[in-house]
Parts: sequence; structure tokens; C-alpha cells
Amino acid sequence: MIEIKDLHKHYDTAQGRIEVLKGIDLSVPEGSITAVVGPSGAGKSTLSHCISLLEKPSSGQILVDGKDLGALSGRALRAERRAIGTIFQNSALLSRLSVAENVALPLRNLGVVHYEMQQRVAQLLDRVGLLEKANAYPGQLSGGQRQRVGIARALALRPRLLLSDEATSGLDPESTHQVLGLLDSLRSDLGLSIILITHEMDVVRHVADEVAQLAGGRIAEHGALHELVASP
Ligand code: ADP
Ligand code: ADP
Repeated sequence: MIEIKDLHKHYDTAQGRIEVLKGIDLSVPEGSITAVVGPSGAGKSTLSHCISLLEKPSSGQILVDGKDLGALSGRALRAERRAIGTIFQNSALLSRLSVAENVALPLRNLGVVHYEMQQRVAQLLDRVGLLEKANAYPGQLSGGQRQRVGIARALALRPRLLLSDEATSGLDPESTHQVLGLLDSLRSDLGLSIILITHEMDVVRHVADEVAQLAGGRIAEHGALHELVASP
């Protein structure tokens, strides 16, 4: 279970203080998908960076199974960062590394031994349906395939939370469908908690259990999908 409590983030600029997140409360139960939607400028990227621990919140808590990640730094933070896997809009693969090498990176950084790493990479690629592309390079894959490799890499350290930051933006409908289907199966097979940050309402309709609407740095509304999204 992931809980975000009273999260604030401000930036101090030459023009003064800009308050971007003004007290975000959000909890994502195990095995469920929560979408965070909102217009441009609402604070979605900032929230995403705080959750993925790329940015430090000004105040508030990010609890993973009761442990406050926001309070950690240095070695302890690096250890706990594993609890959160992130997938990005452009999949962010390294183009000079093969698919398998990209997926292996987080394991290599952790010092996992070669044999175990190969096994784990094969499992992960199998999981996302791309085992036969292990030796291909990112440039040889479609956008949707690259994103599935990005998902395999995000899963390498067995996170509790998968954060998807506009991961289907820019994909064609067929690839979007595949990626969302994959996220849906990860939620049910592995019991992952998933946060989908997106501006695409079709994505939300497709897989979200709950929707949180971000506006002006606050959660304006939060509820089950059917309560918030009127059927077309
Ligand atoms: P969204 O992803 O929903 O479009 P952002 O989180 O990117 O929203 O931005 C929300 C607001 O925070 C914007 O007004 C933006 O200008 C401001 N902002 C974001 N990052 C910074 C920063 N590093 N310094 C100052 N203001 C920022
Ligand atoms: P293992 O015997 O490898 O520990 P598990 O029963 O933990 O297997 O999980 C079944 C499958 O799901 C394995 O392929 C495992 O690698 C994968 N898996 C389990 N949890 C996660 C997770 N959080 N992220 C990625 N893969 C996972």
C-alpha cells in the first residue's frame, strides 16, 4: 500500500515562491491502478518527480508499507528507491545497449551475479512478451515495444509501486492498448500498485480503478472511475 500524505512542493525563484503542490493526499491500495489526471500546469510532473524520488518534497510523506521514503537520504534512500519503478513517456532506453542489456542495468548496478541476472532478464522479457527481442536494439523496435522494455526494466528490482509518467503519450492506439493491457496484468498477477499520470482520458477509462483529479496543486476530486468519468 502506497500512501501520500499532505505532500507540499514549492520552488523559490527570483520572482518569489511558487507553490506547486499544496497538500496532496492519495493512497493506492495493492493491486489497484489510480490515475492522476489534470490540465497542463496542474502539477502532474512535479508530483511524479516527488513520487519517483527525483525531487524532494518540501514537506509531507510518501509511505510505502508504512515506511516514509521522503524522510530518507543517502544510502537508505537508494535502497528504498527500489520500491518504486518508473516508466517514462519516451521509454528512456539506452540506444547503444541491447534490449537485454537495458533491462539488466538496474540489476548490474546492484551487483547481481551474471547467471542470476541472465535468468532474471529472460523472465522479465518473457513477462512483457519480448523474449525474442532480447538481442535487438531499441532503434529496431516499435514505440510500443520500447515501452514494454521500459516496463521490464522498471520491474527488474521488484518494485511495490509502478509509476507511469505519461507512458502512453505519443503511442499509436494499438501500442497504447498493448501497454495498458500489460499494466492491467501486472496489477492482477503481481499485485502491484500502479499510479498512472496522464492527460489522456481514454487511458483512464481503459484501466484505472480510481481517478484523482489534480487542479492548482490540489486533488480536486478523487473517486472510483465510474463516479468521476461519465460514460460517453
Ligand atoms: P503539469 O505536469 O501538470 O503540466 P508541472 O508539475 O510541470 O505541471 O508544473 C506545475 C507548475 O509548477 C507550473 O506552473 C510550472 O511552471 C511550475 N514549476 C514546475 N517546476 C518548476 C521549477 N523547477 N521551478 C519553478 N516552477 C516550476
Ligand atoms: P520467484 O520464484 O522468481 O521469486 P515470484 O513467485 O516472486 O517468483 O513471482 C513470479 C514471477 O513474477 C517471477 O517471474 C518473478 O520474477 C515475477 N515477479 C514477482 N514480483 C515481481 C515484481 N514486483 N516485479 C517484477 N517481477 C516480479
